[in-house]
Amino acid sequence: MQFDIIRPTTDEVGQRRVALNQATLRRLNEAMRGGGDELVSFRCECGRFGCNQLIRLSPSEYAAVRAHPRRFVVVPGHEVVEIESAVERHNRYAVVEAHAAAVVGIAEQTSPRRDRGGQRPAPAAE
Ligand SMILES: [Zn+2]
Repeated sequence: MQFDIIRPTTDEVGQRRVALNQATLRRLNEAMRGGGDELVSFRCECGRFGCNQLIRLSPSEYAAVRAHPRRFVVVPGHEVVEIESAVERHNRYAVVEAHAAAVVGIAEQTSPRRDRGGQRPAPAAE
């Protein structure tokens, strides 16, 4: 399915808005946990206005993404290249990692699992 809103995210205000949307979506997805190995429907975490697509991941696939505070799971092609880069591509989903200065802080501060393990990731070198 094609999703093509031309909405460049070059200004910091726009980038932060996307980052806050991503944080909200991540919180929603945290509540959608399944059991066993069955695929669970998660919201695309691209944070773009109007995206309400679903992605199906196994609980372990989802947990692998969530282990990184700066990573989000999106529909393939939904990367917002101004603020993040794809680090994994699969048939059903892609994993992006935030790198823009305006959004890294938001991603890390809103990570639902930041209390686990107490690791403090270094700031992204841009
Ligand atoms: Zn999306």
